[in-house]
Amino acid sequence: MLFKEEFSDIIISGAGPAGCSASMFLSKQGIKHTLIEKAVFPRDKICGDAISGKVLTILEAFDKKASEEISNTPNIFNPCKGIIFVSPNGTKLSIPFKHEYKTGDKAPGYLAKRLDFDNFLFIKIRSPFCHCIENCELKEIEKISKSLNITVAHKSIKTTINTKLLISADGSRSLAARKLGGI
Ligand SMILES: Cc1cc2nc3c(=O)[nH]c(=O)nc-3n(C[C@H](O)[C@H](O)[C@H](O)COP(=O)(O)OP(=O)(O)OC[C@H]3O[C@@H](n4cnc5c(N)ncnc54)[C@H](O)[C@@H]3O)c2cc1C
Repeated sequence: MLFKEEFSDIIISGAGPAGCSASMFLSKQGIKHTLIEKAVFPRDKICGDAISGKVLTILEAFDKKASEEISNTPNIFNPCKGIIFVSPNGTKLSIPFKHEYKTGDKAPGYLAKRLDFDNFLFIKIRSPFCHCIENCELKEIEKISKSLNITVAHKSIKTTINTKLLISADGSRSLAARKLGGI
């Protein structure tokens, strides 16, 4: 059985930073849910790889040790003070992660490959409250009165399940946003 009934009231589509964050906070509240992800982790993503202080604040709200784990792994998480955007004509825009940063202060942010950072988050969602299914792509969504029928393809086999809540975290090309949000 692909889906487990007691985990199917809430389904999260996508296990990027948004989906993993939603899953972590649901688990913290003891709320059962299913997370579906079309890829198999670890998976990479095109990104600038910058992790700002805001990310660390949210991670700490879930797990106080997460920030420490990151600062103790400098081979994966490179300490970073901020970003400088440079246009082709040489104009620069500097965005520090922390104002009034003093030499010797703890790094206010980091640079990490998404292959590593997203996998770091993906490992953190493991919990008795999360049923996670990789290689499972959200394919169709149908509104049924106060619930949704969603169809997924897992290893090419299609399955339809009814859910009360779909948390759409399937990225910038989100199927859910297009179908339900009118994007
Ligand atoms: C060029 C570029 C540079 C960037 N640089 C930075 C940066 O330096 N710092 C920063 O903070 N942000 C940066 N961003 C933004 C950042 O990448 C996004 O904000 C972030 O990835 C959004 O996270 P997410 O979880 O919403 O989506 P994603 O990270 O896109 O995750 C979506 C997940 O959903 C899965 N998925 C997709 N469709 C389905 C489906 N139908 N069914 C099941 N699963 C599905 C995907 O496999 C993926 O794992 C950059 C973006 C780009 C394009």
